[in-house]
Order: sequence, then C-alpha cells, then structure tokens
Amino acid sequence: MKSQNDLLSATGTTIFTVMSALAVEHGAINLGQGFPDYDGPSDVIHAAAAALLDGRNQYPPMTGLPELREAVAAANRRFYGLEVDPKAEVVVTSGATEAITACLMAVLNPGDECVLIEPLYDTYLPVVRLLGAVPKLVRLSPPKWELPRAELAAAFGPKTKAILLNTPMNPAGKVFTAAELAFVADLLQRHDCYAICDEVYEHLTFDGWKHIPLMTLPGMRERCMRIGSAGKTFSLTGWKVGYVTCDRSLAPNVAKAHQNLTFTTPPNLQRGVAVGLMKDDRYFAELSATLQAKRDLLAAGLARLGFGVLETQGSYFVTTDVRPLGWTGDDVAFCRTLTQEAKVTAIPVTAFYAQPDAPNHYVRFAFCKGDAVLTEALRRIEAWLAARRGTAAAVA
Ligand code: PMP
Ligand code: GLN
Repeated sequence: MKSQNDLLSATGTTIFTVMSALAVEHGAINLGQGFPDYDGPSDVIHAAAAALLDGRNQYPPMTGLPELREAVAAANRRFYGLEVDPKAEVVVTSGATEAITACLMAVLNPGDECVLIEPLYDTYLPVVRLLGAVPKLVRLSPPKWELPRAELAAAFGPKTKAILLNTPMNPAGKVFTAAELAFVADLLQRHDCYAICDEVYEHLTFDGWKHIPLMTLPGMRERCMRIGSAGKTFSLTGWKVGYVTCDRSLAPNVAKAHQNLTFTTPPNLQRGVAVGLMKDDRYFAELSATLQAKRDLLAAGLARLGFGVLETQGSYFVTTDVRPLGWTGDDVAFCRTLTQEAKVTAIPVTAFYAQPDAPNHYVRFAFCKGDAVLTEALRRIEAWLAARRGTAAAVA
C-alpha cells in the first residue's frame, strides 16, 4: 500500500486522549484533560435545547447566526472597547480548534514561517506543518515563563508571515503583560506580519490579572485574528463553538477556510452561546472568582504535599515541579505512576514542547473540577506519597 499522509502518520494521539483513557482504565480522578466536571449556565443550555425543538436544525449562515455574530461584537465592545462589524468581522467556527486552523489557513502559504511559542497547545505545530509552512519555535521556560525578547526578535525574518500567540496560556497559566504585547506588536509591524491570537481563556484570569487582546494595541486591529471559545467561557467544552474576530480584510479568507473545513456550526448551540455572551457582567466575574477559588484549593493543597507550585495567572491549569517530592524520574513516568498508584491523572508538561530537550519535571493539573473532587484528589496523592515514603523508609 502507498504511504498515507506522512505528517499525520507521524503525529501521535493527543496526550489529552492518552491520559484520559489511562484515567478511565485505572479508575483515576482525571485532573488531566481540561474540562469541567460541572455543567455550564442553565439558561444557556435551555436556550440551545429550545432551539433544537423549534425547528432551528438546518444549515445556518456560513459565518454564523447573525444573533451570535452580534453578541460577539457586543462582547468585544463591552470587555475591550473594540468596535467590530458583526456582518463583516466575525466568523463562528466549530470550536477554537477549528478557528486556529482556519486562521492559519487564511494567511499561510507553503514556505511561510510562523512563529510559535513553547510550551504550545498540541494542534499548533501539526497544522502549521500540514499547511507546508515552517514553524519557528521560541521557548518560554518555567518557573517564570518570561518572554525571551531577544530570541523572539531573532525568530522573525523576511519569510515570517505570522505569530500564534496564546494568552492566557495553556499550560503555563501565564497572562501576557501589556509590555510583552507591545514588544510583540512592534515586531509584527516591523516585519509586516499577522497574529493568530488564541484567547480561549480570556475570561479566566485571577488575582486582578486582566486579559489584554493583542488586537487592542495600536496598529494591531488589521493584523490580528482573535479567537474565543464558548467551551471555556461557558464551561461547555463539548459544544465546540468558537468565534474569530478580525478585520474585514482578513475575515473573507477565514470564512473560506471555515467553508472548506466544516462550512457551518450547529445553529442551536450558536443560539445558546449568543444568550451566554449577553449575560451580565456578574456572570463573567463569578466565573473567574469560582475558578480562582478552585485554583487556590488545588495549588495550596499541592504545595502542602510538597510539590513546587508555579504561579497561575489564568486558564484552567496549575503547573507543578515534582522534584521537591524527591521524584527522580521524568514527568511522563510521574503522570503514569500517579494514575496507576495514586488514582489521580495529570499531564506531563513535556507534551507541550516540540523538542526532546524540554524541561521534564513539570506536571500540569486541571482545577476546573468540583471542590469535593479536588479535595479527594489531594487526599489520594497524600496517601500515595505517605505510602512511598513508608516503603522508602522500610527499605532503608
Ligand atoms: N486553545 C487552547 C489553548 C486550549 O486550551 C483549547 C482547549 N482545549 C483550545 C484552543 C480548543 O478550544 P475548543 O474546545 O473551543 O476547540
Ligand atoms: N484544552 C484541553 C487541555 O489542554 C484539552 C482539549 C483536548 O482534549 N483537545 O486539557
């Protein structure tokens, strides 16, 4: 048989699927894949359910229900002061995952260079490569995840077409500062480049950290494609409704990519998301406050058990250093052992790096879970650590 697509054949199953399957196999609490174990707001769900029953089940308009595009434009104005034409500058997609691919397709030609920042979300690299573009990787390192400005500047050159920027960042929990974004914006202007802005965790920031869309910086309105996700904003990750906000000069190509990927996104779910985006400010404030409390519960608990806990400014995730526990193996071995023995699942952070020389003693835990689940996970890890120490003492 002739070989199939080489790039896909060489791409492994995503770490999220691998670890979720391992969690099921071992009856473990799954703090790996980032999905809430509670439902989203009931008015949003009821609006979608009603839209299933009142005949809204055929193809909606290709770029999204007018009602949802208007809600996306209104949210841009309310949260960021961005004025957006809902008819010409919003494209609704089947999740942020599709939006990322559609935006990359919209601007990249084979041979173009695209700057990616490690640690990176798992779809970025394969999609850039499938498009025949050349990834230029710039690495952020724990524990501070500071932007290495000289290296970032060096990654830009005459062939650079775009950067893919994720803030708040998965798995680092980093929120890019205004100064960092200004540095990126300057590079984009100097090299005449676009930015694909993965902002799915835009409403999940903590401790007073505020999400700043790169698109709001001077000169960035025409260069940025800003991506949101209903999955994250309404705790409904299975819905897969995403939305791209971009200038009218970019939207037609994003729409044409969407036309060729999925064409449309379920109209009933779009109706629910439109209701969600029109919710009052209190909903959005409570969402981040609730998640901040969960972060605190898990981060403080893990610190008490001896993990090195890194700061989480935003997202669903807390990253921990497992060396202070006395663990001498790598992060993958830690996550497997934790699943098998402690019955708690986490994600090895090396999965977010393209090169094998990545730091290999960091482990990501998702805290978008019920408080009782987080508490039970901590109890299990504590018991496992105590048993390990007991065994080590007995051997010695
Ligand atoms: N980007 C990042 C950084 C994410 O963490 C996720 C969520 N898994 C996505 C994109 C995908 O979002 P969606 O589920 O809307 O496709
Ligand atoms: N974004 C989620 C995470 O990082 C997972 C999404 C997925 O499984 N593709 O855990």
